[in-house]
Amino acid sequence: MIIAEALNPREPFSIERRRLLEHLTQRNYAYLIAHSNESLSASQEQLFNTYLTRLKGGEPLAYILGEQEFYGLSFKVNPQVLIPRPDTELLVDHALSLIQTLNHPQVIDLGTGSGAIAITLTKHCPALTMTATDVSPAALSLAQHNAKLILKDKSSSVIWLQSNWFEQVTGLFDVIVSNPPYIAPGDPHLHGDGLPFEPQLALTADNQGTQALASIIKDSPRYLKRPGYLFLEHGYDQAAFVAQALEQEGFTEIKLHLDFNHHPRLTQGTLR
Ligand code: GLN
Repeated sequence: MIIAEALNPREPFSIERRRLLEHLTQRNYAYLIAHSNESLSASQEQLFNTYLTRLKGGEPLAYILGEQEFYGLSFKVNPQVLIPRPDTELLVDHALSLIQTLNHPQVIDLGTGSGAIAITLTKHCPALTMTATDVSPAALSLAQHNAKLILKDKSSSVIWLQSNWFEQVTGLFDVIVSNPPYIAPGDPHLHGDGLPFEPQLALTADNQGTQALASIIKDSPRYLKRPGYLFLEHGYDQAAFVAQALEQEGFTEIKLHLDFNHHPRLTQGTLR
């Protein structure tokens, strides 16, 4: 198979084909176009076809490539962790602009998965002390690997903790951030968009998807300094629930942020 054939824009998955070929050949798109009459090696062609079959089976490209870009950084991913989403870049944006106003802030990321939030915040604000938790040892070890690749010698500044939300957490923090599971079990959305390949533990929560959010909000005051700040990603229809739960725990200055599809996606609150 020649490169032009593999890149055929009239075939389905044209963007994915391009990414797969870049990955397989370790060449960029400009190179591939310039060499489009050259043949793939037999092993490249075989791998390309295997990858295409996996794509057609609904598997997310990120799991096939083993990586996903988040906030301009490349994160290793595997089916033990949720694939970092552009939605979550919104959380990083807002948390970062607050964190950058604080002096040596102590920050905790609950349910860090691939480490996307914790590592990105650390990368952009080296003065912070970051703690990152996950209940899954496999997720934590992948997050630590990402920290080494992305933060290099600063990776040792992140404290990793295997914990179910706050269970193993001690101490006080200026900022708590989390992208917890918030999809209701049985939500039809779980059957599409590659979600069946992602860890259900990272996606679904009981009580219409609100259980993890509720538990984090309820326990946060015991782990926050005053003032202390909480940033939570949530479902598009959970903003009212989150705001009410925050108010009930005494949070003020509750702000809702919309994602790129103009859906309510992130809520922050302050405890004074
Ligand atoms: N935003 C993701 C989705 O809808 C869910 C992420 C999560 O549960 N935290 O696919």
